[in-house]
Amino acid sequence: MRQIDHHIVGGAGGNAGRLGDVLDPNNGGVQAQVALGDKALLDRAVAAAKAAQLAWAAVNPQRRARVMFEYKRLVEANMDELAQMLSAEHGKVIADAKGDIQRGLEVVEFCCGIPHVLKGEYTQGAGPGIDVYSMRQPLGIGVGITPFNFPAMIPLWMGAVATAVGNAFILKPSERDPSVPVRLAELFLEAGMPEGIFQVVHGDKEMVDAILDHPDIAAVSFVGSSDIAHYVYERGVRAGKRVQAMGGAKNHGIVMPDADLDQVVSDLTGAAFGSAGERCMALPVVVPVGEDTAQRLRDKLVPAIEALRVGVSTDPDAHYGPVVTQAHKEKVEGWIAKCADEGAELVVDGRGFSLQGHEKGFFVGPTLFDHVTPEMESYKEEIFGPVLQIVRAPDFETALELPSKHQYGNGVAIFTRNGHAAREFAARVNVGMVGINVPIPVPVAYHTFGGWKRSAFGDTNQHGMEGVKFWTKVKTVTARWPDGSPDGGNAFVIPTMG
Ligand code: NAD
Repeated sequence: MRQIDHHIVGGAGGNAGRLGDVLDPNNGGVQAQVALGDKALLDRAVAAAKAAQLAWAAVNPQRRARVMFEYKRLVEANMDELAQMLSAEHGKVIADAKGDIQRGLEVVEFCCGIPHVLKGEYTQGAGPGIDVYSMRQPLGIGVGITPFNFPAMIPLWMGAVATAVGNAFILKPSERDPSVPVRLAELFLEAGMPEGIFQVVHGDKEMVDAILDHPDIAAVSFVGSSDIAHYVYERGVRAGKRVQAMGGAKNHGIVMPDADLDQVVSDLTGAAFGSAGERCMALPVVVPVGEDTAQRLRDKLVPAIEALRVGVSTDPDAHYGPVVTQAHKEKVEGWIAKCADEGAELVVDGRGFSLQGHEKGFFVGPTLFDHVTPEMESYKEEIFGPVLQIVRAPDFETALELPSKHQYGNGVAIFTRNGHAAREFAARVNVGMVGINVPIPVPVAYHTFGGWKRSAFGDTNQHGMEGVKFWTKVKTVTARWPDGSPDGGNAFVIPTMG
């Protein structure tokens, strides 16, 4: 059985020996085992990070940026291998796996410009003979704890920015699909990053707790489900760390009566069912405004959903592949049963889907519910599968209220031809990322990613300038170079510019 090891300085030898199964979503069964680390292993990684970090921080930013340039070239050269590896453990189709890697690489591209971003501020003559300047300095050692659903993009959101600004970074990826994160770390070494600056430790709760309690780790960036995000946030902050923790989502797509419904249906099927709905920016709730819009939308949606092709992740014609584990398949099917029990109309039922030759794969067929209401548990909670729920709204204000009042506030989209309605919606909706005729409004790398409410704990977003802020601290210097002439003696009151 293939074993996936940690990627730390000195090798993974001496690991306590616990192993976790890495499943094969296309066929069922176990395809590899991943080493699950403990506190002793983390201590070794932290010691190596400590030994390397100060020298890395002292490397001029242009040279650190050159590592990022080379890294981008290397990841592109290895794109096919990485995408296959990702798809085999996650279950997303190859083209989508490439998108996962590419969105991470775009953060690396942003980091190629890190010298410019780190320039700081300067005021000449803030007082008589006094200059004030600020600089951004790295925190020391940072950790990223990442979910299964973007095993390339999310580690690079964190790790590229953290290292480009001069930190040592330790990645604790999801134990469900750990191979790509290790390969990403190997490629950083190949690109010229010193040993100890980008390491990978695998593990589950035991490792996460060791990270949260470790006195030498200055910052933790987490992405995963909301309950764990909240736990990580609380425990990490209690230990004095800087923590950002992104959680789950239930994104709504509002469809106004004037929307181009053919376009909406095409956007919705991709956004609700792509990657088997296992995206924090998926669109699992659609809110048509007015009964006529709802009926017209449903009439177009049903045949589009029935035409979706579910296949193995290597099938180039498949729209989406299996979900990540058997347990997750059962959970999603459990939510389908629950939503039906709660009184919603089950229009297309994806349960019991079986793919010939892959009967043990973790497939769930596309599912559509109509007449879902805000009181239903299945509406309130994240399903994270290929399930689309229609919640009908009589008017714009009701439609605006639904995502605004929902416990999650990651993303939202409005489909309309009316600029005023779109503008009003974007200004008033209580959600962190808004799409206007864009179903999955994941901001580009030089902007920043982050939800509101239970979709994110902490106050800085991922990547872009917010990422740079998270991974650095500001030092402000007030400097005076006296010319030797008397200046009025000691001052016993606070100096002011009055
Ligand atoms: P998860 O919360 O199960 O796992 C995330 C990380 O936490 C993993 O590294 C895992 O090992 C660790 N972990 C799991 N259980 C833990 C525990 N009890 N104590 C400590 N650590 C633990 O999430 P997942 O299933 O891997 O990913 C899917 C979730 O992530 C969804 O809720 C999705 O919405 C969310 N997500 C959010 C964003 C975002 O940016 N907001 C992006 C991607 C995914």
